[in-house]
Amino acid sequence: MGLTANHLVNRPILASIDTEAFRHNLNRIRELAPESKIWAVIKAKAYGHGLEAALKGLESADGFALLDIADAQWFRDHKWSGRILLLEGLFHQEELETAVQLRCDMVVHNEKQLEWLESYSNHSGHPINLFLKLNSGMNRLGFKPEQYRDAYHRLHAAGYHMHHMTHFANADQVDRSPSVGAQVECFESTIAGLEAPTSLANSAAILWHRNALGDWIRPGIMLYGVSPTGTYADIARSELLPVMQLRSEIIEIQELKKGDHVGYGGRFEAPEDMRIGVIACGYADGYPRHAVDGTPVWVQGAGPDYDDVVCPIAGQVSMDMLTIDLREAPNAKVGSAVELWGGEIPVDDVAQMSGTIGYELICALAPRVPVSIK
Ligand SMILES: *Cc1c(COP(=O)(O)O)cnc(C)c1O
Repeated sequence: MGLTANHLVNRPILASIDTEAFRHNLNRIRELAPESKIWAVIKAKAYGHGLEAALKGLESADGFALLDIADAQWFRDHKWSGRILLLEGLFHQEELETAVQLRCDMVVHNEKQLEWLESYSNHSGHPINLFLKLNSGMNRLGFKPEQYRDAYHRLHAAGYHMHHMTHFANADQVDRSPSVGAQVECFESTIAGLEAPTSLANSAAILWHRNALGDWIRPGIMLYGVSPTGTYADIARSELLPVMQLRSEIIEIQELKKGDHVGYGGRFEAPEDMRIGVIACGYADGYPRHAVDGTPVWVQGAGPDYDDVVCPIAGQVSMDMLTIDLREAPNAKVGSAVELWGGEIPVDDVAQMSGTIGYELICALAPRVPVSIK
């Protein structure tokens, strides 16, 4: 592969977004849930991948689900005529008119939002779709079961097109309890007899609880080829492809003597004479500062036979740089291409070595990192 030189930027770091992988993952989701429509969840600027790439790669989704009305505006400005769901509904009453103008579907999760909608008269000439959210046990957002039916009837009476929605707290507990069972039961008994389309499943439920999909599924993390559990092995056989690749280059090589230390705090001590590679990527790029020694970095063509090798981080990640142990990479040189995460190193693996989950790393890709969409 090798890096394309980009002479407009000073540093060799680059995030590339593979829109073909987006298409592949979306098709895979259709195979897993052929009866359901798909809300492509693209909150947090498409989990750090950017709205532009998301629109390009995911245009065959049935709709985009997001949080900020400004992002809904962006999609309409970019000629998206399909559905858009405001995943947490309105934050302020003043947004309602704009949301209607932008033809947004809205989640309704509390009494205040319900009152705003009840007192609104819709002159737009098109119906408004609402996703009424049931708090079936996660205790974050939504109406409690005993309030839900009344809320439903009020909005239905006000002329809205109703949908039922809930969100799982434990769909990623692959074989463990508690999982989704109690929440599904609560959902089904609460909506009994109220005929309307349903929406339940996030990525983990789509992968592991296909008895609880509903009419509209809401995949997020799996669209990006990252694991809902935080462990790559859990999706290794799910035929999902990573969409984001973060790469950079070795910009310096240090020859160490046995006993020399590397970086802030001298966390890594050379157990023998050895080389260290310095890479242009640090925590100000979104690489986790908590990455421990041993966190994998892929280095192109640096092995004994000019094969690709995985080298462990050695020393504390700093703001603009990180350092790797080159003992297995005799052919590493200044300019060697590295992958921090992507197709060679799952972002889940980096996350695990840093005490977090892949979601956090991709969402936190820093604005200073140049992005190329292919
Ligand atoms: C973020 C979100 C999703 C997507 O979750 P993933 O775990 O990324 O698939 C689905 N539904 C709601 C309400 C969300 O907030």
